[in-house]
Amino acid sequence: MADRKAFRASILHCLADPGEQADSAAVQYIEDGILLVEDGHVAALGPADAMAATLGDDIERVDHSGKLILPGFVDCHVHFSQLDIIGSFGEQLMDWLEHYAYPAEEAFADAGHAQEAADFFVDELLRNGTTTALVFPTVHPQSVDAIFTAADRRNMRLLSGKVLMDQNCPETLRDDPETGYRESRQLLEKWHGKNRLGYAITPRFAVTSSEQQLKSAGRLAAEFPDVHVHTHLAENRDECDLVATQFPWSRSYLDVYEQFGLVRERSVFAHCLHLDEPDRQQMAKLGAAIAFCPTSNLFLGSGLFDLRAALERGIRTGIGTDVGGGTSLSMFRTLNEAYKVLQLQGQSLPGFRALYLATLGAAKALYLDDKIGNFTPGKEADFVVIDYAASSLTERRLSQSADIAEKLFALITLGDDRSIATTYVLGTPV
Ligand SMILES: [Zn+2]
Repeated sequence: MADRKAFRASILHCLADPGEQADSAAVQYIEDGILLVEDGHVAALGPADAMAATLGDDIERVDHSGKLILPGFVDCHVHFSQLDIIGSFGEQLMDWLEHYAYPAEEAFADAGHAQEAADFFVDELLRNGTTTALVFPTVHPQSVDAIFTAADRRNMRLLSGKVLMDQNCPETLRDDPETGYRESRQLLEKWHGKNRLGYAITPRFAVTSSEQQLKSAGRLAAEFPDVHVHTHLAENRDECDLVATQFPWSRSYLDVYEQFGLVRERSVFAHCLHLDEPDRQQMAKLGAAIAFCPTSNLFLGSGLFDLRAALERGIRTGIGTDVGGGTSLSMFRTLNEAYKVLQLQGQSLPGFRALYLATLGAAKALYLDDKIGNFTPGKEADFVVIDYAASSLTERRLSQSADIAEKLFALITLGDDRSIATTYVLGTPV
């Protein structure tokens, strides 16, 4: 017999991109609603008074009245190996990698350390309401096993893959094109499609890969078109200069990846701060996606992401926390900074669009919108229950809101992990 549960609360989710004008037809809000879940999937949703009579006696009823149900958040770019260096002072990208990120990643040669860090990381994601993530591990195959094991134990949807880097980084973190290809392929065959896990071919960035390695990554991407590609693109000016020197034949940084067959559907590029118009046209045409990482871009002084240009061009775009260059795993805190990044450029980010970028928009960026991102019946029931009274100021401010649009925006501005009362994965609290 089916496992049926009815969750009562206010319910909000996106049906499409609400845009900078916050089109209310692009969202569905039910003030007093029921989300009906069957065997971990959304069966129906609607007003509580209409739904309650149809439920029958065999159903488990869970009352979250006075709280808000949102779809689980989707983090499009984050490094699980960098939790221990979050909030490291004083550097921009290339020095930050050398002084903080690489030394921290060396510890992941130890499988025990990798597993402990992966379990902690995944629990932190869930505690922050993030139910799906595209995750950078390290160059070590055991770090990939660790993050997939941690996600699988919690039934979580997660994408990851071995980092490829064979130059311009410490000796201890280098693979080579041959072993990089072989280990990636072994890990892909072991994990891709297992339960809710998916593989991502993961060259760190163009600086740390030889042409031969990018070529072997492209070969893998062609052999396995349904796996993801995950890397960094045009984050920092010095990095862009290095890439231009290293690949003198390239038209642009994006072009380096494109020449090796790495720009395609299911390719996700973190940052994309320093693109030109032909780059954007190519990304839209080829179906590649951007992870907008506002806290990281501010913290590392990298620059301001032009969201309007990306979305107007039709590029799939989601939000990434990019911890540890980013400063929080909380999607609320990340969206709060996204709003400010856009304010500095004369753009806007209403609450509805912010929610879209962290849920349905991110799911589209990852080509997972047939499975997650909103509460369309049939989708996987990953959701969060929001406590409006997580802090006294939040409670006071939200009680003054005229409507859900205002309430959501204030929640994003003030909210953090304390706002997440419960996170559900496939309809089960975690
Ligand atoms: Zn990153």
